[in-house]
Amino acid sequence: MKKAIGIDLGGTYIKGALIDEQGNILVKEQISTLKELGADDILRRIAELTRQLAQMGEVPMSDLLGVGIGIPGFIDERQGMAVEVINIGWKKILVREPLERMIHLPVFMENDANAAALGEAWVGAGRGTASAICVTLGTGVGGGIVLNQKIWSGSNHMGGELGHFVMDPEGAPCNCGRRGCLETFSSATGILRMARDGIESGVTTTLTIEELSTKGIFEAAVVGDELGQMVVAKASEMLGRGLAMAADLINPEMIIIGGGVAKAGDDLFIPVREAFLRYALPRVVEAARIVPALLGNDAGVVGAGKLAF
Ligand SMILES: [Zn+2]
Repeated sequence: MKKAIGIDLGGTYIKGALIDEQGNILVKEQISTLKELGADDILRRIAELTRQLAQMGEVPMSDLLGVGIGIPGFIDERQGMAVEVINIGWKKILVREPLERMIHLPVFMENDANAAALGEAWVGAGRGTASAICVTLGTGVGGGIVLNQKIWSGSNHMGGELGHFVMDPEGAPCNCGRRGCLETFSSATGILRMARDGIESGVTTTLTIEELSTKGIFEAAVVGDELGQMVVAKASEMLGRGLAMAADLINPEMIIIGGGVAKAGDDLFIPVREAFLRYALPRVVEAARIVPALLGNDAGVVGAGKLAF
């Protein structure tokens, strides 16, 4: 059976896995990113990790189809370049050519949210589905569009960036330089910010700034805390509305929601589905199932590996 390596480059860890053509993870390993050591060092250690995974899986390097890498930023596939990766401090770093020279295998690149979306659509919650919108609710809101089991990367790898739908032009500043993006409401960062703002403006709550967590905010909402309920309602309303806009455009079979915030389960999914129902066209709602992601942290490496097949 054919095999490939998937790499998920993150700000703290570089995760890697050897996967087969059915999307099974045969072995996996992670190393620290150590971004302060610079791009050359990171690429060298990705090459080492690749060799190590092949060895652990007892596959000769020459039998591998290639290496796929999910990169947490903007990429230029044609030039094999990471154009800008804010959380690793990369600007215009050549990735493909130096790596291919080190490991003598074809290297494929994708944005990390797109890679995770591809993994979920391939062997996760979206297995067998033709079309899906995938969202990851973490530090930001990542998005990916899968059509016929392939990522819709867009003309310069910006496809699926629904986290930057401007929901409120006068809202809080976003990392992208604009205001009120979906990500400022429905990411973990956005949820914490809304709770902090609420505490500072004196909304009744048992939540404290010192012990704020997204989990705590969802738990407070369940037991009737006024601020908890306000924040969860806002995050869900905006996410449901953003997903409705994306779904009206794509008409997907499935909407897959993952990332740390999705761990709230029904406390998030029920209000998101209600908002989605309010804002999407009825026939679009009929076709689209909103489901939790299944692969968790493995989605990125599985999807990155898929790029090589
Ligand atoms: Zn934005």
